[in-house]
Amino acid sequence: MKTLSSAHVHTTFCDGRTPAPLTVRAALEKGFVSLGFSSHAPQEFDAEYNMALKDEPAYRAQIRTLQAEYAGRMAIYLGLERDLFACVSAKDYDYYIASVHYLTWPGDFVAIDGDAAPLKKYVDERCGGDGLMMARQYYESLRDYVVKERPPIIGHFDLVRKNNAVLRLFDEESKAYRRLALDALRPMADSGALLEVNTGAMARGYLTSPYPAPFLLKEWKSWGGEVTVTSDCHDARYLDAYFNEAEELLRSLDYTHAVRLGQKELWERFSL
Ligand SMILES: [Zn+2]
Ligand SMILES: [Zn+2]
Repeated sequence: MKTLSSAHVHTTFCDGRTPAPLTVRAALEKGFVSLGFSSHAPQEFDAEYNMALKDEPAYRAQIRTLQAEYAGRMAIYLGLERDLFACVSAKDYDYYIASVHYLTWPGDFVAIDGDAAPLKKYVDERCGGDGLMMARQYYESLRDYVVKERPPIIGHFDLVRKNNAVLRLFDEESKAYRRLALDALRPMADSGALLEVNTGAMARGYLTSPYPAPFLLKEWKSWGGEVTVTSDCHDARYLDAYFNEAEELLRSLDYTHAVRLGQKELWERFSL
């Protein structure tokens, strides 16, 4: 395992199970050179997954304290997983991950990666049973977010695969699906954002490959895009789960390096 870092790590300030200080210890034991915390940013709905607005100052203070305490041993960064519907900016953070977890319509929402049944209902009732329409809505939403805000990291690009593994709402091998995913990814390559190779759904048993799918990673590389391997960790036991597999996949696609949170600068490249 070469990555020795993860920029996508949750804490007990949001839906993570491990308090940040214990995650830091786990990272040190694994020989990590850096670690970035990225609790879910506060938002005005579906509050159980996210950090409460009132807790945000305490989150920032705790991570900044850890950053100072471990200086010289491991570089710690203060980040945020900032959903499109987050109600705070990332200006007080070292970096953020831009993610889309919801489809919304006036007065209601559905979580892309939540329970399967509500998403199925959404597709049936709001997309006339057309799963590809739902996927298109998701990708256009993420594309517009990334193109507008140029975030440091693009979060779990093809998140629609999670529930598709159960619901089979669209054919991931079809030209139509691949085209709409690639059309959303292409303009992101010009934004300068890192594409995360996220093993979280593997660690939780939902998928057998990371986000994004290999065909997307292949094109991303051909466009000159760079990647960072992350665990979307909600439990410190899985801090580097499936990193070997993710690195192997990247090498098989001719990636010679990836990017991680740096020891001296915010980002550093390392050989795969
Ligand atoms: Zn997420
Ligand atoms: Zn996450």
